[in-house]
Amino acid sequence: MDTNKNNPKRDLSSDQDLLRKVKWLTIIRIIVASLILGSITVLQFKETRFSFSPFYNLIAIIYSMTLLYSLIIYFDPNPVFFAYIQLTGDIIVETALIFYTGGIRSPFAFTYIFTILCASILLSRKSSLIVATLSSLFYSLTIIFQFTKIWRFPLSYIPTGSQLTFPYVSHTLFANIFAFFLTAFLSGYLAELQRQAGRELKTKDGNIAQLQAFNENILQSLSSGLIVTDLYGNTKLMNWTARKIFNLPGFSQEHWDILFHPLKIEKFFHKMKHNKLNYLRIESHIKKRKKKIYLGITISFLKNTQGIEEGLITNFQDLTELKKMEEQVKQAEMLATIGQMAAVMAHELRNPMASIKGSVQFLDDELQLDQEHKRLMQIILKESNRLNNIITDFLQYAKPKPPSKVECNIADLIQETIALIQNSLADKQHIQIITDISPSLPLIDIDPEQIKQVFWNLAINSCQAMPSGGIFRILAHKTKDKDLLIEFTDTGVGISKEKINRLFHPFYTTKDKGMGLGLSIAYRIIKDHKGKIEVMSTSGEGSNFRVLLPYNSKILQEAVTTQK
Ligand code: ADP
Repeated sequence: MDTNKNNPKRDLSSDQDLLRKVKWLTIIRIIVASLILGSITVLQFKETRFSFSPFYNLIAIIYSMTLLYSLIIYFDPNPVFFAYIQLTGDIIVETALIFYTGGIRSPFAFTYIFTILCASILLSRKSSLIVATLSSLFYSLTIIFQFTKIWRFPLSYIPTGSQLTFPYVSHTLFANIFAFFLTAFLSGYLAELQRQAGRELKTKDGNIAQLQAFNENILQSLSSGLIVTDLYGNTKLMNWTARKIFNLPGFSQEHWDILFHPLKIEKFFHKMKHNKLNYLRIESHIKKRKKKIYLGITISFLKNTQGIEEGLITNFQDLTELKKMEEQVKQAEMLATIGQMAAVMAHELRNPMASIKGSVQFLDDELQLDQEHKRLMQIILKESNRLNNIITDFLQYAKPKPPSKVECNIADLIQETIALIQNSLADKQHIQIITDISPSLPLIDIDPEQIKQVFWNLAINSCQAMPSGGIFRILAHKTKDKDLLIEFTDTGVGISKEKINRLFHPFYTTKDKGMGLGLSIAYRIIKDHKGKIEVMSTSGEGSNFRVLLPYNSKILQEAVTTQK
């Protein structure tokens, strides 16, 4: 018996299919039984000589069996096993029918053939042969019992005619059994052919579906937009990227001209036709939600197998980001050129500035000037000093020198910075300077001039942030992470939230005479030393700048700015 276990190839869908067919068999059987019941009832009124009760019994058995099958279906049986049960039941009923209608003389021997046909259709060729064997067995036994008179056959309405002779019985038996097996063989063969064709069709269907899914995947995964239209521009297909570029939620039947407005497909179609081109490349832009989208578009013909043009394929990429980047690169190149020019100019200005300053200084020393002229001379000297400082700062930012590192004691550099600050500003502005330098600071590899520049820039900023005086603190100590931390804290004007993120941008200043390069130079120097600068500040309360320098040559992250 070929059940699920014996035939591993049988899958769930074929099981369901078989169960569906078996259900249909049950329904057809009950319909046939009901029709027979109806005809017997009619016949009973016309033919009163015979007793029809065995037929009624048989039909009652069929109804009961159907009820039983319905219950079995409810428990989700093995479909092959269930089919065999029903077919065997049918053979038994058919044998009973033959028994009641005269055995060898019964005209109902052909009913076995229906069961054999059902086996071929429902199961397999092998099953139809099994059912044919079962039918032959039941039929032969019935006939043998009749011939040997073991059973007494109840109905005699079928004319007996001559006596049952061995040649007649054997001939009838052989003819019927031959018919059963011939039916089983032929119907099994045909059903098998049909099943095979069905399987092949299913495989082909599956292959086609797979191919379609594969094509669909490729189409939808393309990073460029793809639209297929007929020759008049009516859209037939649109992939996901195209929908994304045009901001369409699903496939839209919109005309090509509407999608690519103000371009016209007809114009390109004629151009390609006229110039015998296979494809055309254009760059254009469309407007979507008030935004300009730059597109690189390729239009080509969609030809059928005979090479006749059937439509147009439009392939396009969103070039907006690329255009933006191109613009940025252009601008950056322009700025770089301006920067280079400025650096050259600044460098060239330095020498004449030095000559002017030297000459003015010489004149100031040599000439006997009155008070007013002396004051004017001092202004020239002061302003040329300022110009010189600006040029130095600018060149330092525009053409930074790599740090030339030597082993230094950071505490010395801090002390020097404090001395400079005290000389220049602090005293006049009532600024109290507090230092807290850890005595166990390790020596560190740095460029002392550059780091002193950083300290000076931070310290001068702190002092300038306290125009009416305040406290300026410098702290230096080691951190757990093996960095040297140098903190510059003031009680000055502080920095607002909006300004804090722009502090380290070059040329950002809030001072009348500031250049806005102090912090950007400091940032660059500390970055070159693989350290970092952090700032915390509250507007109106003061600021805290923290410089972290690694003394184990560990690389620190970029500068971080935070607002308290
Ligand atoms: P500059 O000193 O020429 O303005 P900087 O780059 O040194 O250039 O400073 C940029 C700006 O950062 C300053 O104009 C100032 O507004 C702000 N700033 C820097 N340090 C402080 C500080 N300690 N307190 C308040 N504002 C500061």
